[in-house]
Amino acid sequence: MTPIIVHGAAGRMGRRILALAAEQPADYRIIAGVDRQAGTLRDLGLASDAPVLTALPAERGAVVIDFSHHAVFPSVIRHCVANGMPLASGTTGVAPSTLDAELIGAAGRIACLHAGNMSVGVNVLLDVAARLAKALGLDYDIEITEAHHNQKVDAPSGTAFALADAIATATGRTRADMTYGREGQTGARRRGEIGIHALRMGDVVGDHMVWFVGGGERIQLGHVAHNRDIFARGALRAAAFLLAAKAGRYHMRDVLGLA
Ligand code: NAD
Repeated sequence: MTPIIVHGAAGRMGRRILALAAEQPADYRIIAGVDRQAGTLRDLGLASDAPVLTALPAERGAVVIDFSHHAVFPSVIRHCVANGMPLASGTTGVAPSTLDAELIGAAGRIACLHAGNMSVGVNVLLDVAARLAKALGLDYDIEITEAHHNQKVDAPSGTAFALADAIATATGRTRADMTYGREGQTGARRRGEIGIHALRMGDVVGDHMVWFVGGGERIQLGHVAHNRDIFARGALRAAAFLLAAKAGRYHMRDVLGLA
């Protein structure tokens, strides 16, 4: 059984993680939530009197699941290191240099993982897309399309970048090979280019499609998110993995046995 502490407990993700953990009492034990306002999980709509604290407690061995705010990531991970608590963080917006420095620093002391997308399906897609790109070679043009709701403020999505990066890494390409949208007199497509295109419409939760098109055939790999529970389920799976893992920096591919 995995003991968990959810940092960002009152947020959209935190609430779903707690609700899904509470549905699996044989697998997860909720020690506490942490957010800006103290109370109990009952205040968050759960049938539990476990506390919601305003600071992370020292609870050696409990796994911290963090979906909060990028500004507090360094203090969260340092607390985990100081108290021997594994950490699974899905908080986005942490500067890559900060992320690397903190995770590398912590890896010698605790099992830790950060993933910008915790969905099991997306992480399997990353793996499959990279392997497909490598096998198909440069004769197949690769384009990535993503669709999100009309309130999303950034483009392309972090997941579209993750797909493009995974393909680039597997095939010796870099971000310089990526083209974002096309307009005007673009000239013919460059060999090896990875095109990325963002659609914004309605209440789409998150669609990603990778196109591999060669002369005479095409392969399309797609992922459609129906709701945010996919991220919460992935986070809980990561927490269970980290509890059993020795100190080190892990990725979702390790959790899923794809490494
Ligand atoms: P949200 O704003 O609904 O929730 C964030 C919660 O964190 C809030 O309740 C807030 O009060 C709390 N919080 C902020 N600072 C805190 C602090 N210093 N101490 C304690 N609590 C604090 O946001 P959300 O939609 O739940 O997303 C949270 C984070 O997770 C964001 O960075 C988001 O981009 C990311 N996210 C990641 C994935 C993934 O798969 N990795 C999926 C969805 C969202």
